[in-house]
Parts: sequence; C-alpha cells; structure tokens
Amino acid sequence: MTEDTGRTESDEPKKENEQKEQQSNGGNPLGANFLSQLEDIVKGLGGQFVRMDMPRGNMGAQASGKKATPKKDTHEETLKKIRDFSFKPKEIKDYLDRFVISQDEAKKVLSVAICDHYNHVRRCLEKPELAEHDFAKHNIMMLGPTGVGKTYLMRCIAKLIGVPFVKADATKFSETGYVGYDVEDIVRDLVKVADGNTELAEYGIVYIDEIDKIAGKGDSTMQRDVSGRGVQVNLLKLMEDTEVKTVGQNDMLGQMQAMMSLQSSGSVPKMSVRTKHILFIVSGAFAKLPEQIGHRLGSAQIGFGHGDNRPDMLKPTELLAQVTTKDLVDFGFEPEFVGRLPVRVTLDDLSVADLEQILTRAENGVLTQYQEDFAGYGINLDVDMSGLHEIAVKAYEEKTGARGLMTVLERLFREFKYELPSMGVTELSVNEAFVHDPQAALAQLINDSRHLALKQHLTEVDEFAERFGRMYGMTVRFTEEARERICELSNMAGKTVRSFCEERFKNLQFVLPQISQKTGQAEFVLNTDIVDEPEAVLTKMVTESLKN
Ligand code: ADP
Repeated sequence: MTEDTGRTESDEPKKENEQKEQQSNGGNPLGANFLSQLEDIVKGLGGQFVRMDMPRGNMGAQASGKKATPKKDTHEETLKKIRDFSFKPKEIKDYLDRFVISQDEAKKVLSVAICDHYNHVRRCLEKPELAEHDFAKHNIMMLGPTGVGKTYLMRCIAKLIGVPFVKADATKFSETGYVGYDVEDIVRDLVKVADGNTELAEYGIVYIDEIDKIAGKGDSTMQRDVSGRGVQVNLLKLMEDTEVKTVGQNDMLGQMQAMMSLQSSGSVPKMSVRTKHILFIVSGAFAKLPEQIGHRLGSAQIGFGHGDNRPDMLKPTELLAQVTTKDLVDFGFEPEFVGRLPVRVTLDDLSVADLEQILTRAENGVLTQYQEDFAGYGINLDVDMSGLHEIAVKAYEEKTGARGLMTVLERLFREFKYELPSMGVTELSVNEAFVHDPQAALAQLINDSRHLALKQHLTEVDEFAERFGRMYGMTVRFTEEARERICELSNMAGKTVRSFCEERFKNLQFVLPQISQKTGQAEFVLNTDIVDEPEAVLTKMVTESLKN
C-alpha cells in the first residue's frame, strides 16, 4: 500500500470529504452515505477507519507524457543552407513530386522562381553591396480553386529550404492605424516562427491567401470598414523593401519584454526586420475572373461547369491560365500591386485520378494519417483499389479539391474510429461496398467480431483487477461468472468496461486495503455478488473481517 495515498480523517474533515465525494459522484450521495455507514460500523466494532483515495479514471495510469525534447537550435544550420543555396529547379520539382500530385506547371514555375530568389539572396550575402542594387523580387501570385495544393506546395518548399513560413488571409488585415491585425503583423509572425531570430525571418516566406477578396475599390467583398486598396498599398511597401519593427504599436507585452532584455543584457537587440529578401506569395480562387477573361477572349470560349464538353470551350482554370496584368487591374487590383507580383501561376483542378493518386502515392498523404491512427490501436487499415476509387469519386463530388478527401475519409471512418478500438478487431478492410454504405459495413463487422469484443472486454476486467491490486499491494481477481457479468452489464449500460468498473467498484479501495491491513489477507477473489450489490457485499466483508 502506498502511504501517500492514505489519509486518516477526523470527524470534521469527514463532512468536507463527503461533500467532495458527492461532487465526484455527480451529486449522487450514495458513495458518501456508504462511506459514512462503513465508518460507523468500523468504529462501532472498535476499529479505526482509514480512507484511501484512489484517483478515479486514472487508476495506475502511466504518466504518458514524455517531455518533449526541446527543439534543437538549427538556425545557424539553416542560415548556412541559405548562404550555400545550391538547389537546381529540377531538384526542387523532384522533391515536390514526392508530396504533391499533378500541378506540373506550377511546380516548374515555382522551382525556377525559388531558385532565382535564393540564388540572389546567396549572392547578396556573399557580396553585401549587391543588396543595395535594384532587383525585381520573384514574388508570386497563385490562382486556382481551393484545396488543389497552392499552400501545400509553398509549405513543402519552405520546409525543404528550412526557412520560416507564415500564412494569413488577406481579409483579416486592417489598414495601418486601425486597431486589428495589420500587414506588418505578418512579418512579426515570421519572427515568431523563426523563434525570434530576425536574421532568419528576413529570408522567410509570407503566404497571403484570399487575395482576390481585397481587389476592388469598394468594400463590397470586405466585412470591415477598411478598403482593400489601403491594404494593397500597405502590402506593396512590404513586398518592396521596408523595415518592420519587431514589436507592434499595440503589443504591450512585446514592448515590456524588449525593455527587460535591454536591462538584463545591456545591449539593444535587433528590433526590426528588413523585408527586402522576404518572398511574398499571394493566392486566391478568383472565382469571377475566368468569366471576365472569357469575355476578353470572346464569349465562345467561356465554358463553365465541368459537364460542358464543347471542344471550343475552356475550363475556368484554363481561362485563369491566360490572365494578364490588365485582367487583374480590371478585376480591381492596383497596377503597382500587380506589378510587384511578376510570377503568376495557375493551378489545375484535381481529377478523380489525381485524388486517387493523392491517396496512394503522395508521401504523408491523408490516408496514411488514418492508417497511423488505426495502427495506434493495433488495427491494420487496408483499402483496396475499388475502395480507393470510390473514395476519390465521392471526394471529387465535394468540389473542394483534396480537402474533399479529408471530408470523405472523416465521414467514412468516424464511427469505426469510435467503435473499433474497443472491439478487439485487428483488420479493417475497405472496398467499394464499404465506402457506399459504411453503416452496413460497421454492423457486419460488429456482428462478425462479437467473440473478439467479448475477449477484449474480459481482458479489460482483468486489467482493472490487476491495476487495483498493483496499486494496493495485493492480488485481486474476479471469478469467471463475475467477469462475464461485468461485460454484460457494461454492455447494457453502453459504457466501457473500465469506466463501468471504476464506477461500480469505487468503494473497493476503502475496504480491501483495510481488510488486508487487519487480517494480512493478500488475495481477494470477487464473485458475481459483488458485481450486483457492491456496497452490501463490501459492508459484509468489513464486518466479518473485524469480527474474526
Ligand atoms: P489550397 O490550394 O486551397 O491552398 P492546400 O494546399 O491547403 O489548398 O491543400 C489542402 C490539403 O490538401 C493539403 O494540406 C494537402 O494535404 C492536400 N493537397 C492539396 N492538393 C494536393 C495535391 N495536389 N497533392 C497532394 N496533396 C494535396
């Protein structure tokens, strides 16, 4: 018995304890009454009552939280990688091919732009005087539907190079001077992602999504009382070359920290970030733009909807691919703003076949995550070709690109993730019929694996007894009938065996250790009586042990 879990209570704290008991019983005073009755019996027989609390719901639970090892400081290595930048565009594309399916054109354009950008950065680091020369930065505009890999491509690139990456929605910016998130805050976020290393932040990548929502002189698309034009002008300054203070005007905490660091170290840390080498990517779905481009090209070329197969018609993404600076200005962007985004790339819709490949070929794909989730419970998830195809078809119907896959998989496996871990199942095989009707598949699986579920539940009963025994230094086990009865009752109550046992046998901790202490009994075999009437049986056990 571990001493630190035991406490001797006098009469006064007993009441307080009863209240606590009531709270932990959800207001049901049964447990408290039982303890008081038991205490009276023990005292009546001349014994001393000891309450030994066992934390409920956490019996013998291993402290699972391994302390996360602090992130190794790799900033120097990353800076060295930038100074030695030597990737070739084809190497970057090869890397992207591992994770991102399709989008070949975008991969090529981005690989070239990234190499140009970081080669220039490297040269400026080698010869600082070069940094003062004019250089047209390769800021990028990505156009295309949602969920097709725009952000993902850039995240992969940032990861490959090791530079900090931040993403924000253009719609959440307010103009400088307004309270709220202004464009400079995104550069400060870059510093945060770089763990405060301003030098590293100066080579980072800023990704601004929903840029199409700040086009237009009016506020029709903006939720707040700020013009998109103002935000474009502010962004323009950032995209060129400006110094951003690392502590914002409204950031009181940041200002205090800076003061404290000045006081403690005596030196002034670098308080600003130069944006000259930060790469800016803006992106948007530009849902209305294809129609506008179509009109420019002549109305015969406007083809909307995927069902329209007239050969002279272009798909929206094909029209987007023909975007010009004038189209963007007509759309509502400031010419100077568009001018700072020389690299433009359109991403394609993902076809059913692409979605299938994302499931099967893409490294770290979304299906792998589900496989790992199930593997965590010792379950092998296997999806055959027909199942994969059906998932891709359903995802395609969602019209949200690869995000559709996540939606479909989440819906498909939701119930299985809930039920299977308690069923003792080790295989989950998915085919077309399964994807069509997951409910029927689950019902079938539950039926087929009843014996496995029972086996698993019986094991859980034994685990409860073992944990209890370990905690109180004794051996506890249930008879065969008692084990089955527990499984039956927990099943009827719709509870797990563990929570059923913890609830039903919550008073075991107050009785068995007392008896063991008084009589030296180290082994307890519990039968169905204690399952059906725990409190009556426990009272009887205490009484008898004291009499003896
Ligand atoms: P968006 O185009 O709206 O920026 P994302 O790049 O954020 O979409 O895509 C959402 C998620 O979908 C990504 O994190 C990735 O897991 C997956 N995904 C999207 N497109 C692809 C693709 N072409 N290949 C592989 N996975 C993709």
